[in-house]
This record gives sequence, structure tokens and C-alpha cells, in this order.
Amino acid sequence: MPTYYIHIKGIVQGVGFRPTIYRLADKYQLKGTVSNTTDGVQIYFNATAKKSSLFFNDIKSHPPSRAVVTSIEIQETEKREYEGFQIIDSHGGKDRSVLLTPDFAICDECRSEMYDSNNKRYHYPFITCTLCGPRYSIINALPYDRPLTTMDTFNMCPDCQYEYDDIEDRRYFSQTNTCPECSIKLSVSGQSGNVIPISSVIQAWKQDLIVAIKGIGGYLLTCDATSEHAINKLRQKKNRPSKPLAVMYPDAAMLKKDLEISSEAISELTNHVSPIVLTRSKKTPGTGMVKAAIAPGLNQIGVMVPYAPLMDLLLHHFKKPIIATSGNLSGDPIEFRNDRAMDNLSEIADLFLHNNRGIVVPQDDSLIAFSPRHHRKIILRRSRG
Ligand SMILES: [Zn+2]
Ligand SMILES: [Zn+2]
Repeated sequence: MPTYYIHIKGIVQGVGFRPTIYRLADKYQLKGTVSNTTDGVQIYFNATAKKSSLFFNDIKSHPPSRAVVTSIEIQETEKREYEGFQIIDSHGGKDRSVLLTPDFAICDECRSEMYDSNNKRYHYPFITCTLCGPRYSIINALPYDRPLTTMDTFNMCPDCQYEYDDIEDRRYFSQTNTCPECSIKLSVSGQSGNVIPISSVIQAWKQDLIVAIKGIGGYLLTCDATSEHAINKLRQKKNRPSKPLAVMYPDAAMLKKDLEISSEAISELTNHVSPIVLTRSKKTPGTGMVKAAIAPGLNQIGVMVPYAPLMDLLLHHFKKPIIATSGNLSGDPIEFRNDRAMDNLSEIADLFLHNNRGIVVPQDDSLIAFSPRHHRKIILRRSRG
């Protein structure tokens, strides 16, 4: 039987491409291999001419939802007989044409698992799957595979390994897979004794304290967005007297209490990029969000909903909006290393919430707005996504 080669370029790594190809190969009962290279996804397989084009067209029309395919080509190649279909080890390619995959906001399925008390990842702040979680910020080198990311220090427990190996599982081949058993760990500094990380952050916010939280792209400085006292303290300590601050809401429903927001903006806010969206505030915000202290003299406020499960969980418990601004000293880049954050932000933050997943590439949040008349999207700052 002839052998074919398919080469796919674009944002194709860390989006579940290999599992998708594996399932499609299974559907057409093809034998061959799929691998990630720095030059994209490469597939070799045996098929009749007819089947090869069916398979090719199926990939073209049903790529994984987070993938961005910039080119896909098929050609017949040197004959080789394969046994079964296999995902083979990634290897470097001759070119470096693959596009870096952005970090993805928590997906709906992971969010519902996180709040399901019967799920093993109930309240686990680092839940991910092949559709969501960090990518760009944790990649040391390409191709995207766990040993080349900061996930390399975490070993999967047998349960997670089972999911990783199970083609039917939505965590099949998920490089960021962990669970409470083999978990990424939270730690708190700035408080002594036996602390429960999530509760100590909630308590600190309630006491108008400033908390530095290590998120996906770096540290965020946070405080209660309904407390003028806390906001002014943050402004003073960060030496940011009047520039607007971004506000993070537990969810879109609460956000609507404070802001005039279009349905376009809501779907943008809650998609897998989860940017900050600039939008008009209501005259009297329903949550008590202190508009005048957050964006002095401005009508518009930059708002977002949590993209990291950790922030989702914290806000779910706090039930109020928070200020979430980059954790840096005025003029410096965002802090992303635990030790340096402690050194540089200790004058500002009363409490630190760290975790032991490393960040390679720090990132600020993306910022977008909508044109007032046509609701057209305007990208003001692109980072995640
Ligand atoms: Zn997910
Ligand atoms: Zn596990």
C-alpha cells in the first residue's frame, strides 16, 4: 500500500493535535505515526489514494479547537509498511516554523470538574486538560512535550498516567496533567503557623491587605476592589497614583452588576484567551466596586474574569471583585520567580501566594476594547493568545 506524508504548520503544539490525529487514524483504520517537531506536526501512514484524501480532508475540516493551522500539505512518499498507528517521540526538525502556543484559560469542563465534590480534582487549583492550561509560559524548548516544560519536575501519579495513556480520555496526551495526588503545590509567605493557602488569601483580602499571587504568566498584586482603603494603599505602595487598575470578577454574572457590557464583550471575556476588556462602568456599581479609586476620572474600566483555575477558585470563595495588577515595581517587568518576587514585592504585598510550577516566559494580560459604534474589536495589547 502507498505511504503518505502530511505536514501541518501553525499553532499545532499543546492543543491536542496528536490525540486528534490518533483518533482520526483509528476512524479510518490507518497504520502509521504522528509526531511533533519544531517544524510542525508530521504524519506518515499507509493508505489507498482514496482513504488518504478522506483522512487529509477530515484533518483539514476538524482540527483541534485551539489549533491555528497556517499550512497543511499531503504528498506520497517513499514506501514503508507500518504496524498499527503510533504517537512517536517528538524530535527536532530541520526548520523552526512552529508557532508558539499561547496559554489557555480554564475550559468549561475543567471548571465544572473543579466544583464537583465527587471529582478527584475538586477544588484543585491547577486543573488542566488538552484544551486548557499554561503552554507558552512554561515551555523551555520545542517541541512541546512535558520534559521540555517546567512540568518536568512533576511525576504523574498512576491515575494521571492512566488518563494520559487512554485514547478515550480528554486528558489523553495532556502534558500539563496533574491532580491532588501528584500536585503542584501552593505555599504562603507573610504568615506564620499552619496556614491553609486559599483561606488565608480570602482572610487577607477581607482585612484590606495586599496579596501577591503567582498566576500563569507571573505575579499579580491583588486586593479587594470594593475597598477604597485597600486600593489607595496599593496605589501608594506601588507608586501608581492615578493610572487605572484592572478588576477581576468571579464570573460574568457579577461583572454585569457593575458594567454596561455588550454580548460581544462577554463572549470575548470568557473565551480561551480571556483578555482584559475595556468597558463602561454603570453609574452605581452593584457590587460596591469603587470606580473612582480604580479609574479616576475615566468612564471605562478594564475588567476580566479568571483564566487560571487558581484565581477562579479564590474569587469563587471571595464572592467579590478584586484588583489584579501586574506584580512589578514601577517600570520593571512583571515578577515571575518566587525568590525575586519576594525580594522585590515585599514592600508592597502583605502576603504571598506562591506555587512550585516554574514560569519560563512571563506575560501580562492581553487588553482589548470594542469600538463604541460598531462593537468592533480593537486589540490594545496582545500577550496571551
Ligand atoms: Zn480544560
Ligand atoms: Zn495525579
